[in-house]
Amino acid sequence: MRQIALFEQGIAPTPIEEMSGDYGKNRYYIKREDMIPFSFGGNKARKAAEFYREIKDCGADVVMTYGSNSSNHCRIIANMACAMGLDCHIISPEENRERLYNTRLVESFGAQIETCPVSKVSETIDRRVEAYRQEGRNPYFILGGGHGNPGTRACVNTYREIADYERRTGISFDYIFHASGTGTTQAGLVSGKLLEDARIKESGQPARWQKIVGISIARNEERGREVVRQSIKEYLGEKYPALYREEELIFTDFCCLGGYGKYTKEVRETIEKVMAGDGIPMDTTYVGKAFYGMGRYVEEHRITGKNILFLHTGGTPLFFDLIDRE
Ligand SMILES: *Cc1c(COP(=O)(O)O)cnc(C)c1O
Repeated sequence: MRQIALFEQGIAPTPIEEMSGDYGKNRYYIKREDMIPFSFGGNKARKAAEFYREIKDCGADVVMTYGSNSSNHCRIIANMACAMGLDCHIISPEENRERLYNTRLVESFGAQIETCPVSKVSETIDRRVEAYRQEGRNPYFILGGGHGNPGTRACVNTYREIADYERRTGISFDYIFHASGTGTTQAGLVSGKLLEDARIKESGQPARWQKIVGISIARNEERGREVVRQSIKEYLGEKYPALYREEELIFTDFCCLGGYGKYTKEVRETIEKVMAGDGIPMDTTYVGKAFYGMGRYVEEHRITGKNILFLHTGGTPLFFDLIDRE
């Protein structure tokens, strides 16, 4: 099947464009992870490409994962399993019942959705994995949001693409902003940067100044940072003690706006402004919220005259949920 070629060959670099809307006194660029040509794209498509290899290598015959009715990750995994001709089994919290675009897409890919109370998720997963094994099947379980080392590896590639762009164009980014959820994307970006900094140092070139800022969309700083740090540690392995620098991990929770999925009128206005100024759709749970958070961060830290890259991590179906709500 042709769509599988994307996973076999790896994902081509996603575009980086200068933005044309007026977002403040800096130059704003955007990296379009939402343009990955599979299942409406996004960082979950990038992560899925890494899980694809693991699933193939271990000869799994059923792909399992966890996520809510709005999960971009579940949509991508259900689409990938369908394209691979494998069964897909999704455990989902019964508290969220609304049929959103991602829910409908998951259904249309033929995935089986099993709901349970959110408090029973981990035992339901364990029970289901065991039941498949008893039947002689070989399930492959992916953590919610594509968290884990393959997901981190995928996002290290995102950073490599950014560094390649900087080398090619001579434009260097002073800041990189993005929405931070499970922390995998941030772990990948920061690991990528630590490796790139080490490479630059080894080659005798002068060190660069660049900050990666993760705008938390739900978690508090304490927990959020710890998860990102653990993921970096796992990814870098024995290189971790030499490469890791605490000041590289900027995870800020001032923009959670009351928790996962919550947003304000200002987020909504930001989304409209970006749509009008650049024709780029953003959702209220991740990307629009983080873009709004970036604006506030820039203001509070009085950042001007810098090159700022915003990572558009996807979530296009959620943009249409927003339109339906109004
Ligand atoms: C999952 C997701 C994120 C957060 O990525 P993490 O790797 O979980 O931190 C950001 N934006 C979109 C659109 C997502 O679907």
